[in-house]
Amino acid sequence: MDLRLTDQQQLISESAREFCDREIVPRARENDRAERFDRELATKLGGIGYLGAPVSEDYGGRGLDYLSYGLIVEQVGRADSAMRTVVSVQTSLVCGSIERWGTEGQKHRWLPRLCAGEALGCFGLTEPDTGSDAAALRTRAKRTGAGWSISGQKMWISLGNVAEVALIFAQTDPDLKHRGLACFLVPTETDGFSTQEIHGKLGLRASDTASLALDDVEVGGDALLGEIGDGFKIAMSALDNGRYSVAAGCVGICDGCVDASVAYATERKQFGVPLARFQLVQAMIADMIVKRDAARMLVYRAGDLKSRGEPNTTETSIAKLYATEASVECANLAIQVHGGAGYVDDYPVERYLRDARVTTLYEGTSQIQKLIIGRAATGENAMVPMAAED
Ligand SMILES: Cc1cc2nc3c(=O)[nH]c(=O)nc-3n(C[C@H](O)[C@H](O)[C@H](O)COP(=O)(O)OP(=O)(O)OC[C@H]3O[C@@H](n4cnc5c(N)ncnc54)[C@H](O)[C@@H]3O)c2cc1C
Repeated sequence: MDLRLTDQQQLISESAREFCDREIVPRARENDRAERFDRELATKLGGIGYLGAPVSEDYGGRGLDYLSYGLIVEQVGRADSAMRTVVSVQTSLVCGSIERWGTEGQKHRWLPRLCAGEALGCFGLTEPDTGSDAAALRTRAKRTGAGWSISGQKMWISLGNVAEVALIFAQTDPDLKHRGLACFLVPTETDGFSTQEIHGKLGLRASDTASLALDDVEVGGDALLGEIGDGFKIAMSALDNGRYSVAAGCVGICDGCVDASVAYATERKQFGVPLARFQLVQAMIADMIVKRDAARMLVYRAGDLKSRGEPNTTETSIAKLYATEASVECANLAIQVHGGAGYVDDYPVERYLRDARVTTLYEGTSQIQKLIIGRAATGENAMVPMAAED
């Protein structure tokens, strides 16, 4: 077993860190304060190839292996989780789904522009009444001769207000339950498609979040991604990749917490000595380092399996569960190391905590990850409880 990165992976990681320190870090605090989605920065991410890293070069991507993609996401996550969200949604959820399930026509139409950052995409699965139980979604797609008419609502959709294309998951036949689900590539300029901004978030304030309304949105037959009945499989395969990306970003948060805490603890003095001299402060830093390294190894394992095309749903859930929870714990510890200074945004650690918090909720909550891991271990599906007896 070789745990070292290749020279090329090392280079990818170092250049991503340099890019993020130069381009993202200086803008993170102001974008967070202003709740501003930084479209210009998103375009820059596309320009440097960070929005389509694992997508084939045939469609405008960089054709990188999944571990290399994870290394880039780690650095973006270290700099700003709002920007990491752009990378995760665009690359893992949108481009990854189109590349895997799309026709040649769909791939050529959307992927080059998405990879370049010229267009943004969003992933519309969650609805006001269906979150964890995604298969119960109510958005309805009805046939209209050659095409489809889609009506329904989507909730909490990242990039929803700024995307040019939306992956919309919809039910084609409620009697078929999850076998009736389908996914559509809907241009957001289509009549009947409208969005509303969601504000007041605890964190990810510089990330765009929307509710979507679809009112008899007419699309052609070529908008269908995959086949009717593939919707649930498309959503689950997308989330397998999205979870990996979220986990990698959380390793970046943990790493940022360690660096900020070491820097602060070696500079700040109390009782005449640097904070770093106190054993209890070192213990907090050591706890962060252990969590960061464990999270990183779990992400590397999942990335390695993905790169080799091997099954990885359980390993990805393990990485997502551990890394997201670790990022919350590390950010909380980092604030503690900073004392009162950690409670304001002169330092990045309070933003790390606010931004980390959502990662245990989206792309499958921590409870859902545990149910996936438990199901793999026992063969029992505890996701849907038995109906209570009267
Ligand atoms: C900032 C933000 C961005 C998002 N971006 C997107 C996006 O781009 N696209 C998209 O489609 N969605 C997005 N989401 C939605 C997100 O994926 C959902 O919030 C998530 O899936 C949880 O669904 P829910 O909020 O409806 O919670 P619920 O499903 O109502 O869960 C509430 C609680 O019940 C628990 N629970 C639910 N079911 C079970 C069970 N079977 N067993 C045990 N516990 C259970 C959950 O773990 C949780 O603790 C985003 C959310 C946020 C906050």
